[in-house]
Amino acid sequence: MTQAGAPRHDPIPIGDTAAPPFVRLPDPRAVFRQRGERFRALAAAHELEPYLLFLADLSAVQHDIQDGLPAVQMPPGDVLARAREHGMPPLDRARFTFDRACDATFERALESCGACTMPPAASGALAKLRGADPAARAAMAGAVLADAIPVEALAEHVFVAAARQVHFARLAAELDPASLGPVGEGVCPACGGPPVCSLVVGWLGAHGTRFCACSTCATLWNTVRIKCTACGSTKGITFEEVEGGPGTIKAECCSECRSYVKILYQHKDPSLDPVADDVASLGLDLLLRETGLRRAGVDHFLLGY
Ligand SMILES: [Zn+2]
Ligand SMILES: [Zn+2]
Repeated sequence: MTQAGAPRHDPIPIGDTAAPPFVRLPDPRAVFRQRGERFRALAAAHELEPYLLFLADLSAVQHDIQDGLPAVQMPPGDVLARAREHGMPPLDRARFTFDRACDATFERALESCGACTMPPAASGALAKLRGADPAARAAMAGAVLADAIPVEALAEHVFVAAARQVHFARLAAELDPASLGPVGEGVCPACGGPPVCSLVVGWLGAHGTRFCACSTCATLWNTVRIKCTACGSTKGITFEEVEGGPGTIKAECCSECRSYVKILYQHKDPSLDPVADDVASLGLDLLLRETGLRRAGVDHFLLGY
Protein backbone atom coordinates (compact mmCIF):
# COMPACT_ATOMS: atom_id res chain seq x y z
CA MET A 1 0.00 0.00 0.00
CA THR A 2 1.39 3.41 -0.93
CA GLN A 3 0.59 6.45 1.14
CA ALA A 4 0.46 9.86 -0.45
CA GLY A 5 3.38 11.96 0.67
CA ALA A 6 5.43 9.00 1.91
CA PRO A 7 9.11 9.36 1.15
CA ARG A 8 10.10 7.49 -1.98
CA HIS A 9 12.59 5.32 -0.21
CA ASP A 10 10.60 4.74 2.93
CA PRO A 11 12.32 1.82 4.65
CA ILE A 12 10.09 -1.21 4.27
CA PRO A 13 10.63 -3.70 7.09
CA ILE A 14 10.74 -6.64 4.69
CA GLY A 15 12.97 -8.67 6.95
CA ASP A 16 10.71 -8.22 9.97
CA THR A 17 7.44 -9.19 8.38
CA ALA A 18 6.79 -12.74 9.40
CA ALA A 19 3.83 -14.26 7.61
CA PRO A 20 5.04 -17.77 6.88
CA PRO A 21 3.12 -20.17 4.67
CA PHE A 22 2.08 -23.38 6.45
CA VAL A 23 4.09 -25.56 4.08
CA ARG A 24 6.68 -25.24 1.39
CA LEU A 25 6.53 -28.26 -0.88
CA PRO A 26 9.83 -29.51 -2.29
CA ASP A 27 11.16 -28.80 -5.76
CA PRO A 28 12.66 -32.20 -6.61
CA ARG A 29 14.63 -30.66 -9.47
CA ALA A 30 16.47 -28.37 -7.06
CA VAL A 31 16.63 -29.99 -3.66
CA PHE A 32 19.04 -32.85 -4.43
CA ARG A 33 21.29 -30.79 -6.69
CA GLN A 34 21.70 -28.15 -3.99
CA ARG A 35 22.21 -30.81 -1.34
CA GLY A 36 24.93 -32.45 -3.41
CA GLU A 37 26.74 -29.15 -3.77
CA ARG A 38 26.47 -28.54 -0.06
CA PHE A 39 27.82 -32.00 0.80
CA ARG A 40 30.77 -31.34 -1.51
CA ALA A 41 31.48 -27.94 0.05
CA LEU A 42 31.29 -29.37 3.57
CA ALA A 43 33.58 -32.28 2.73
CA ALA A 44 36.72 -30.21 2.28
CA ALA A 45 39.06 -30.82 5.20
CA HIS A 46 36.24 -32.45 7.21
CA GLU A 47 37.03 -35.54 9.26
CA LEU A 48 34.12 -37.30 7.52
CA GLU A 49 35.39 -36.22 4.10
CA PRO A 50 35.12 -39.61 2.30
CA TYR A 51 31.57 -40.15 3.56
CA LEU A 52 30.48 -36.59 2.73
CA LEU A 53 31.90 -36.95 -0.78
CA PHE A 54 30.00 -40.22 -1.21
CA LEU A 55 26.80 -38.45 -0.13
CA ALA A 56 27.59 -35.59 -2.54
CA ASP A 57 27.74 -38.17 -5.34
CA LEU A 58 24.62 -39.92 -4.07
CA SER A 59 22.70 -36.60 -4.01
CA ALA A 60 23.85 -35.95 -7.58
CA VAL A 61 22.45 -39.38 -8.52
CA GLN A 62 19.17 -38.45 -6.83
CA HIS A 63 19.05 -35.39 -9.04
CA ASP A 64 20.20 -36.98 -12.29
CA ILE A 65 17.91 -40.03 -12.29
CA GLN A 66 14.80 -37.85 -12.44
CA ASP A 67 15.15 -37.10 -16.14
CA GLY A 68 12.60 -39.15 -18.02
CA LEU A 69 11.12 -40.95 -15.00
CA PRO A 70 7.45 -41.92 -15.39
CA ALA A 71 5.00 -39.46 -13.80
CA VAL A 72 4.16 -40.29 -10.19
CA GLN A 73 0.75 -41.72 -9.48
CA MET A 74 -1.06 -39.60 -6.91
CA PRO A 75 -3.60 -41.06 -4.48
CA PRO A 76 -7.16 -40.77 -5.86
CA GLY A 77 -9.18 -37.65 -5.04
CA ASP A 78 -11.44 -39.39 -2.51
CA VAL A 79 -8.39 -40.64 -0.57
CA LEU A 80 -6.91 -37.14 -0.52
CA ALA A 81 -10.23 -35.68 0.62
CA ARG A 82 -10.58 -38.27 3.38
CA ALA A 83 -7.04 -37.61 4.60
CA ARG A 84 -7.80 -33.93 4.80
CA GLU A 85 -11.07 -34.49 6.61
CA HIS A 86 -9.43 -36.66 9.26
CA GLY A 87 -6.25 -34.59 9.69
CA MET A 88 -4.10 -37.33 8.16
CA PRO A 89 -1.12 -36.94 5.80
CA PRO A 90 -2.25 -37.54 2.19
CA LEU A 91 0.83 -39.58 1.23
CA ASP A 92 0.24 -42.34 3.74
CA ARG A 93 3.57 -44.11 4.19
CA ALA A 94 1.91 -47.05 5.96
CA ARG A 95 -0.22 -47.83 2.90
CA PHE A 96 2.46 -47.18 0.37
CA THR A 97 2.32 -49.39 -2.70
CA PHE A 98 4.86 -49.63 -5.48
CA ASP A 99 4.02 -48.17 -8.85
CA ARG A 100 5.89 -47.83 -12.12
CA ALA A 101 7.52 -44.54 -11.16
CA CYS A 102 8.65 -45.90 -7.83
CA ASP A 103 10.14 -49.07 -9.35
CA ALA A 104 11.88 -47.07 -12.08
CA THR A 105 13.33 -44.66 -9.50
CA PHE A 106 14.75 -47.53 -7.53
CA GLU A 107 16.18 -49.33 -10.57
CA ARG A 108 17.81 -46.18 -11.87
CA ALA A 109 19.25 -45.32 -8.49
CA LEU A 110 20.86 -48.76 -8.21
CA GLU A 111 22.23 -48.50 -11.73
CA SER A 112 23.62 -44.98 -11.34
CA CYS A 113 25.02 -45.41 -7.83
CA GLY A 114 27.76 -47.61 -9.25
CA ALA A 115 29.47 -44.43 -10.42
CA CYS A 116 29.61 -42.93 -6.91
CA THR A 117 32.93 -42.83 -5.11
CA MET A 118 32.06 -44.77 -2.00
CA PRO A 119 33.48 -46.43 1.08
CA PRO A 120 34.00 -50.23 0.77
CA ALA A 121 31.05 -50.98 3.07
CA ALA A 122 28.76 -49.02 0.77
CA SER A 123 29.95 -50.69 -2.43
CA GLY A 124 29.49 -54.12 -0.81
CA ALA A 125 25.98 -53.11 0.21
CA LEU A 126 25.19 -51.88 -3.29
CA ALA A 127 26.31 -55.18 -4.83
CA LYS A 128 24.10 -57.03 -2.34
CA LEU A 129 21.13 -54.83 -3.19
CA ARG A 130 21.58 -55.37 -6.89
CA GLY A 131 21.40 -59.08 -6.28
CA ALA A 132 18.35 -58.88 -3.97
CA ASP A 133 15.03 -60.24 -5.23
CA PRO A 134 11.98 -57.95 -5.47
CA ALA A 135 10.52 -59.23 -2.19
CA ALA A 136 13.72 -58.43 -0.29
CA ARG A 137 13.86 -54.98 -1.85
CA ALA A 138 10.22 -54.33 -0.97
CA ALA A 139 10.92 -55.33 2.62
CA MET A 140 13.80 -52.85 2.74
CA ALA A 141 11.64 -50.07 1.32
CA GLY A 142 9.03 -50.84 3.97
CA ALA A 143 11.66 -50.65 6.71
CA VAL A 144 12.82 -47.25 5.44
CA LEU A 145 9.29 -45.88 5.42
CA ALA A 146 8.60 -47.26 8.89
CA ASP A 147 11.91 -45.88 10.19
CA ALA A 148 12.65 -49.38 11.44
CA ILE A 149 15.91 -50.19 9.72
CA PRO A 150 17.84 -53.19 11.03
CA VAL A 151 21.28 -52.22 12.30
CA GLU A 152 23.03 -54.94 10.29
CA ALA A 153 21.67 -53.57 6.99
CA LEU A 154 22.23 -49.83 7.42
CA ALA A 155 24.56 -49.58 4.42
CA GLU A 156 22.01 -51.14 2.04
CA HIS A 157 19.26 -48.90 3.35
CA VAL A 158 21.17 -45.74 2.51
CA PHE A 159 20.56 -46.52 -1.18
CA VAL A 160 16.96 -47.56 -0.63
CA ALA A 161 16.33 -44.37 1.37
CA ALA A 162 17.93 -42.25 -1.36
CA ALA A 163 15.53 -43.69 -3.95
CA ARG A 164 12.54 -43.26 -1.61
CA GLN A 165 13.48 -39.62 -0.98
CA VAL A 166 13.36 -38.92 -4.70
CA HIS A 167 10.03 -40.68 -5.13
CA PHE A 168 8.40 -39.01 -2.15
CA ALA A 169 9.72 -35.56 -3.05
CA ARG A 170 8.18 -36.04 -6.51
CA LEU A 171 4.87 -37.08 -4.92
CA ALA A 172 4.88 -34.22 -2.41
CA ALA A 173 5.61 -31.72 -5.18
CA GLU A 174 2.28 -32.66 -6.80
CA LEU A 175 0.19 -31.88 -3.70
CA ASP A 176 -1.87 -28.74 -3.34
CA PRO A 177 -0.27 -26.82 -0.45
CA ALA A 178 -3.65 -25.27 0.38
CA SER A 179 -5.03 -28.75 1.05
CA LEU A 180 -2.49 -29.50 3.80
CA GLY A 181 -2.93 -28.86 7.50
CA PRO A 182 -1.24 -29.88 10.76
CA VAL A 183 -1.34 -33.63 11.46
CA GLY A 184 0.54 -33.77 14.76
CA GLU A 185 3.71 -32.72 16.58
CA GLY A 186 6.85 -33.60 14.67
CA VAL A 187 4.90 -35.20 11.82
CA CYS A 188 5.18 -34.16 8.18
CA PRO A 189 1.78 -32.94 6.94
CA ALA A 190 2.48 -34.39 3.48
CA CYS A 191 3.83 -37.90 4.16
CA GLY A 192 3.64 -38.41 7.93
CA GLY A 193 7.44 -38.72 8.22
CA PRO A 194 9.56 -37.39 11.08
CA PRO A 195 11.69 -34.27 10.63
CA VAL A 196 15.42 -34.44 10.09
CA CYS A 197 15.84 -31.07 11.80
CA SER A 198 14.31 -27.60 11.78
CA LEU A 199 15.37 -24.43 9.99
CA VAL A 200 15.00 -20.77 10.90
CA VAL A 201 14.56 -19.32 7.43
CA GLY A 202 15.49 -16.00 5.89
CA TRP A 203 12.77 -16.04 3.24
CA LEU A 204 11.31 -12.79 2.11
CA GLY A 205 8.14 -12.22 4.11
CA ALA A 206 8.89 -15.03 6.55
CA HIS A 207 12.28 -14.01 7.89
CA GLY A 208 13.07 -15.56 11.26
CA THR A 209 10.24 -18.09 11.20
CA ARG A 210 10.86 -21.79 11.66
CA PHE A 211 10.15 -24.81 9.50
CA CYS A 212 10.64 -28.51 10.12
CA ALA A 213 12.28 -30.38 7.24
CA CYS A 214 10.84 -33.81 6.39
CA SER A 215 13.38 -36.63 6.31
CA THR A 216 11.44 -38.51 3.64
CA CYS A 217 9.73 -36.10 1.22
CA ALA A 218 11.66 -32.84 1.87
CA THR A 219 8.50 -30.87 2.60
CA LEU A 220 9.04 -27.96 5.00
CA TRP A 221 6.29 -27.17 7.49
CA ASN A 222 5.94 -24.17 9.72
CA THR A 223 6.29 -24.56 13.45
CA VAL A 224 6.67 -21.96 16.18
CA ARG A 225 10.09 -21.39 17.69
CA ILE A 226 11.25 -22.54 21.10
CA LYS A 227 8.95 -25.51 21.20
CA CYS A 228 10.10 -29.14 21.23
CA THR A 229 9.86 -30.52 17.72
CA ALA A 230 9.39 -34.03 19.08
CA CYS A 231 6.73 -33.61 21.79
CA GLY A 232 5.47 -30.04 21.41
CA SER A 233 6.46 -28.92 24.92
CA THR A 234 7.35 -25.26 25.34
CA LYS A 235 8.78 -25.85 28.82
CA GLY A 236 12.33 -26.87 29.58
CA ILE A 237 13.82 -26.04 26.18
CA THR A 238 17.55 -25.36 26.08
CA PHE A 239 20.02 -24.99 23.24
CA GLU A 240 23.38 -26.72 22.98
CA GLU A 241 26.15 -26.24 20.47
CA VAL A 242 29.72 -27.28 19.89
CA GLU A 243 32.11 -24.87 21.55
CA GLY A 244 33.82 -22.63 19.06
CA GLY A 245 31.35 -23.56 16.31
CA PRO A 246 29.85 -21.01 13.90
CA GLY A 247 26.69 -20.63 16.00
CA THR A 248 24.43 -21.56 13.10
CA ILE A 249 23.64 -25.14 14.17
CA LYS A 250 22.34 -25.96 17.62
CA ALA A 251 20.51 -28.78 19.30
CA GLU A 252 17.12 -27.81 20.67
CA CYS A 253 16.93 -29.96 23.79
CA CYS A 254 13.74 -30.81 25.65
CA SER A 255 13.75 -31.83 29.31
CA GLU A 256 10.13 -33.05 29.05
CA CYS A 257 10.73 -35.86 26.54
CA ARG A 258 14.52 -36.02 27.00
CA SER A 259 15.25 -35.66 23.31
CA TYR A 260 16.76 -33.15 20.94
CA VAL A 261 16.37 -32.06 17.32
CA LYS A 262 18.91 -29.87 15.57
CA ILE A 263 17.96 -26.35 14.56
CA LEU A 264 19.75 -24.67 11.65
CA TYR A 265 19.88 -20.87 11.45
CA GLN A 266 19.54 -20.60 7.71
CA HIS A 267 18.69 -16.90 7.92
CA LYS A 268 22.29 -16.41 9.09
CA ASP A 269 23.80 -18.81 6.56
CA PRO A 270 21.60 -19.52 3.50
CA SER A 271 23.85 -22.37 2.36
CA LEU A 272 22.77 -24.61 5.26
CA ASP A 273 20.99 -27.75 4.10
CA PRO A 274 18.87 -29.81 6.52
CA VAL A 275 20.34 -33.17 5.53
CA ALA A 276 23.91 -32.27 4.54
CA ASP A 277 24.54 -30.03 7.54
CA ASP A 278 22.94 -32.54 9.84
CA VAL A 279 25.42 -35.23 8.74
CA ALA A 280 28.37 -32.84 8.83
CA SER A 281 27.51 -31.70 12.36
CA LEU A 282 27.83 -35.21 13.75
CA GLY A 283 30.17 -33.75 16.40
CA LEU A 284 27.13 -32.15 18.04
CA ASP A 285 25.41 -35.55 18.26
CA LEU A 286 28.48 -37.10 19.82
CA LEU A 287 28.54 -34.31 22.36
CA LEU A 288 24.88 -34.83 23.20
CA ARG A 289 25.24 -38.57 23.46
CA GLU A 290 27.06 -37.95 26.74
CA THR A 291 24.00 -36.14 28.13
CA GLY A 292 21.77 -39.16 27.60
CA LEU A 293 19.34 -37.20 25.44
CA ARG A 294 17.75 -39.14 22.58
CA ARG A 295 18.21 -37.91 19.03
CA ALA A 296 14.65 -37.38 17.71
CA GLY A 297 15.56 -36.16 14.21
CA VAL A 298 15.73 -38.90 11.57
CA ASP A 299 18.42 -38.77 8.91
CA HIS A 300 18.71 -41.85 6.73
CA PHE A 301 22.31 -40.94 5.97
CA LEU A 302 23.27 -40.79 9.64
CA LEU A 303 21.77 -44.00 10.95
CA GLY A 304 25.01 -45.78 11.66
CA TYR A 305 26.00 -43.28 14.31
ZN1 LIG B 1 7.25 -35.72 4.33
ZN1 LIG C 1 10.05 -32.78 23.96
